[in-house]
Amino acid sequence: MPQIFGSAELLEDVHKRELCIGCGACVDLCPYFKNYKGKTSQLFPCNLEQGRCFAYCPKAEVDLNELNHKIRRVDYDGSPLGPYREVLASRAGNQMAKGAFQDGGTVSSLMAVALKNGLIDAAALTDRNGLTPISRIVTNWKKVVDCAASKFMASPTLSALNMAVREGYKRIGVVGTPCQMTAVAQMRSNPLQKEEHNVPVALSVGLFCNWSVDTRRLMDLLAQRLEISDIRRMDIPPPPANILALETVNGSVEVSLSDIKPLIPHTCFICLDLTSEFADLSTGMFEGRPGWNTLIIRSDTGAEIVDQARREGFIETEPFPEDNLKHLSKAAAEKKERSLRTLIRRGLINNQGDERAAIRIPQGIVDKILRSPRD
Ligand SMILES: Cc1cc2nc3c(=O)[nH]c(=O)nc-3n(C[C@H](O)[C@H](O)[C@H](O)COP(=O)(O)OP(=O)(O)OC[C@H]3O[C@@H](n4cnc5c(N)ncnc54)[C@H](O)[C@@H]3O)c2cc1C
Ligand code: SF4
Ligand code: SF4
Repeated sequence: MPQIFGSAELLEDVHKRELCIGCGACVDLCPYFKNYKGKTSQLFPCNLEQGRCFAYCPKAEVDLNELNHKIRRVDYDGSPLGPYREVLASRAGNQMAKGAFQDGGTVSSLMAVALKNGLIDAAALTDRNGLTPISRIVTNWKKVVDCAASKFMASPTLSALNMAVREGYKRIGVVGTPCQMTAVAQMRSNPLQKEEHNVPVALSVGLFCNWSVDTRRLMDLLAQRLEISDIRRMDIPPPPANILALETVNGSVEVSLSDIKPLIPHTCFICLDLTSEFADLSTGMFEGRPGWNTLIIRSDTGAEIVDQARREGFIETEPFPEDNLKHLSKAAAEKKERSLRTLIRRGLINNQGDERAAIRIPQGIVDKILRSPRD
């Protein structure tokens, strides 16, 4: 059984250790947790011994083997990409509304086709207010494009999922980063086993993520170089570019990643997942092919949505080249190994006795990840 505690332990284990990524899973569940410009805080103390805040948090006592069993009915095997059926190249099809997509527009197209056909009745997405990412509930498929494009900062997206549940939506779609997809998997598994806590997620689309940036620190840095309100779009092109590329009303601005990387929250360095292993579908850029995505199909639901989107011209797909898959796998394995070493060094994994852990993984899998050849 998962170790579930209350908000006092959440503050102790996650906030005090600076592990909170601001995912929003504990926000707007109760009146107490709120997020402001990327930072989640508790307004008033709560003395419940067990809470959904702790149960959903992707940084507190997450037992990856148990969660895999609940979501996929398989052991957690520590493989680089997690369980999947097929990997494809994809992009928005000709029936999809035009938008300022980050890469191929696959994510927006999948959410749009799901809303258009009633497979979901609401989507929990990420918009922005100035530079600050904000969560948004979208119910009209034509409005999905308003949330297109990556905000490379931790976002409280899952507060929109909590709000959508409260507003009575019954088939909710959600898009988020791997930490958010872990939280969503915990929500879907109803860890406190109470009927009234059912979170009706009908489709989860995960993004690839190596790291994100602290919102307020990024704003402070950028404010020294440009007018924040002039920013139209941001991108982190694949290596060897080594830049954050900003499109502003006055033209392009490049910021070296050596200025950006110090703004990565520490908690990203204990994150084992590059490709959103708990999502129905996972999407990232297609390195070397701008305007396209990498699309990983992981579940029956994911496969059905992809089929429907293809049939209706919302996406087009092609086979994914073997060499690119090897490259993606290698990047994912490197993130796992690097983060696992940090978890061990910081004493945050498989703790015994009263000492609580951030993550639990069977020891055999820990050994396997550390032994895995990189090439
Ligand atoms: C913090 C972050 C780090 C990333 N790192 C990588 C990486 O290392 N490698 C890689 O291949 N891809 C990475 N991506 C994913 C990539 O940037 C694209 O989101 C992905 O390729 C999908 O492209 P698209 O054109 O289909 O998306 P679009 O159709 O443009 O849709 C983008 C979707 O992302 C959601 N979104 C935007 N910002 C956030 C956010 N901060 N948190 C949660 N959801 C958000 C929006 O709701 C929208 O639905 C990252 C994304 C983010 C947000
Ligand atoms: S659930 Fe998310 S926002 Fe809440 S404490 Fe955990 S990481 Fe932070
Ligand atoms: S690296 Fe992990 S913890 Fe950090 S934003 Fe990405 S998914 Fe979340």
